[in-house]
Amino acid sequence: MISVFDLFSIGIGPSSSHTVGPMKAALTFVESLQQRMLLGSVQRVRADLYGSLALTGHGHGTVNAVLLGLEGQHPRTIDPAHVVPRAEAIRTEHGIMLGGTHPVHFEFDRDLCIHKHEFLPKHANGLRFSAYDGGGKPLALETWYSIGGGFIVRDEEFGIEQPSVAVPYPFRTAKQLLDHCRQQNKTIAALVMENETARTGEPDVRAHALEIAAVMQRCVESGCAHEGTLPGGLNVRRRAPALRRKLNEQAESGLHNTMLWPMLYAMAVNEENAAGGRVVTAPTNGAAGIVPAVLQYFRNFVDADDDGKVVDFLLTAGAIGLLYKMNASISGAEVGCQGEVGVACSMAAGALTAVLGGTLLQVENAAEIAMEHHLGMTCDPVGGLVQIPCIERNGVAAEQAIKIAQLALLEDGEHKVSLDTVIATMLETGRDMQQRYKETSLGGLAVNVTEC
Ligand code: SF4
Repeated sequence: MISVFDLFSIGIGPSSSHTVGPMKAALTFVESLQQRMLLGSVQRVRADLYGSLALTGHGHGTVNAVLLGLEGQHPRTIDPAHVVPRAEAIRTEHGIMLGGTHPVHFEFDRDLCIHKHEFLPKHANGLRFSAYDGGGKPLALETWYSIGGGFIVRDEEFGIEQPSVAVPYPFRTAKQLLDHCRQQNKTIAALVMENETARTGEPDVRAHALEIAAVMQRCVESGCAHEGTLPGGLNVRRRAPALRRKLNEQAESGLHNTMLWPMLYAMAVNEENAAGGRVVTAPTNGAAGIVPAVLQYFRNFVDADDDGKVVDFLLTAGAIGLLYKMNASISGAEVGCQGEVGVACSMAAGALTAVLGGTLLQVENAAEIAMEHHLGMTCDPVGGLVQIPCIERNGVAAEQAIKIAQLALLEDGEHKVSLDTVIATMLETGRDMQQRYKETSLGGLAVNVTEC
């Protein structure tokens, strides 16, 4: 089984599949050149972007991410402020520092090729990297796919189960997960904790979860503090700081509009994401606001001081996210926005229900309701930017997740549609969805909103 922490990776905005994944793929390509002692012989490098990466790659930061990945940068550690100026320097100075150590002449228009009308066969987000020696002889050619949430896979390994850590309670479906919980008399969080400790000690798991939570919280705070206009040319104003001021004013005058706060938190995160800031995938960047917003709501309005509950929240959310990752998809390019915002809403609703004391059935019910009402949601970002509809959509989904948890807690958990059924339905719906509604910016709002 993969770890729940694979769903919560610290990186940069604006997109896990179009920024984080491509940067990791480019970095891995360069690392393989290094390992094979080929790096010193490279005189030319070339990157090709296909499908959704080509169609929305400029707005999603793919081009810059690939350039910086080729220079040896990792999304977790790169300074977000470094990305745009360094990519611009590579373009204007016609040179790239492969792996951070090996300078190579780089003609942007020749060496970074965007294939807007071509999709590679295995996934909508395809990339190819090639390296040549001084005589033009190919030294290496690799094809990669960025399959959502920052996950990447080599062409030869696509669809092949990778060796994974043996855990005490392996599960693939919600039924298996809940059966383990019932048999062991454990919550989802406690069961996932035992699985995670097959990799490392429990203190490390807790520390890792709290680190993730801290980065999420900093992202909310940064988003609430940063004024201005988002990059990309749509001239979208950052709204979180003004919204926070207004909500504070309302609170001071005695009007406590509790449900608007999580919307603000989610929008703050997604504005940070759209600006290329430091973000945690949850399970993707486009949907990165929902889990932090609901967690922040829990801390601010329910229980501020219980780190144990924060860990439980993330482990439960991660377990629900794994079910979608293993059985459907968390890629907007593959199944539309139901796989991003829908999954994040499901994760957050289930996790909040759990830390508010819900039973296993109530947690499953909340996670299921959240996806059931996102089925069919398309991905149609205006201008190929992760801004419209993404930012508000995260806010709305955060508020929904909280209300869904409250609803589930008022009932006994009995429900007709199982979480497994809704996950399978989401995948089927995504497969039936026309390609133009799957992160291509060729349909929906993306073609009906005038860019100005
Ligand atoms: S519309 Fe949804 S899936 Fe598409 S980029 Fe925005 S958040 Fe991601």
